[in-house]
Amino acid sequence: MGLYKGPSCKLCRREGVKLFLKSDRCDTPKCAIARRAYAPGQHGPTHRGKMSEYGIRLREKQKLKRYYNVSESQLGRYFSVANKMHGDTGEELLQLLERRFDNFIYRTGLVDTRRQARLLVKHGHFLVNKKPVDIPSFIVKVGDAISITEKSIKTFQPHLEKVSKKSAVSWLNVSVEANDYVFTRIPVREEIDVPVNEQLIVEFYSR
Ligand code: SF4
Repeated sequence: MGLYKGPSCKLCRREGVKLFLKSDRCDTPKCAIARRAYAPGQHGPTHRGKMSEYGIRLREKQKLKRYYNVSESQLGRYFSVANKMHGDTGEELLQLLERRFDNFIYRTGLVDTRRQARLLVKHGHFLVNKKPVDIPSFIVKVGDAISITEKSIKTFQPHLEKVSKKSAVSWLNVSVEANDYVFTRIPVREEIDVPVNEQLIVEFYSR
């Protein structure tokens, strides 16, 4: 199954949590979860029975997929890779997702959502170690230096001011003036602000 292209707020309502897919709007009373805190559908708020053990794990996996804007098959592949690593599988999985190129761009603060980041990466606005990379799933390594291409700097100008005011995540070294965004280290689980229970996701894939 490919990537979901429908309304973002529907996803939050389906999962029953804020997935913060719309940036600034998410912290306002306009947030769909604040206004209609029930799953989407023509019947409005209905009572849904107790979720099965499988259902709980499935929903957790869906949440993760939606946070990072990845497809079903991509997430499955990330799990296979994480499962072969030596560390905690759940943490390895989150770290792999954090290292996706589109997520890296989102974390720099240059864009407001991971969806935007994906699009801009595909349009070829960035360089990795001075070489063009337009693959959103490209995995960045510690020490990789990302920059905006010269011809795209103008496009980002209105955002650059915002970036300098934002507190960047601690595993990136952001220098807006030098157009230099470096991935300095892999974050640990406690630093990754994605409210999912990764253990349940590991159990989902291991069933
Ligand atoms: Fe989710 Fe609310 Fe943001 Fe819509 S506005 S994406 S419902 S958090």
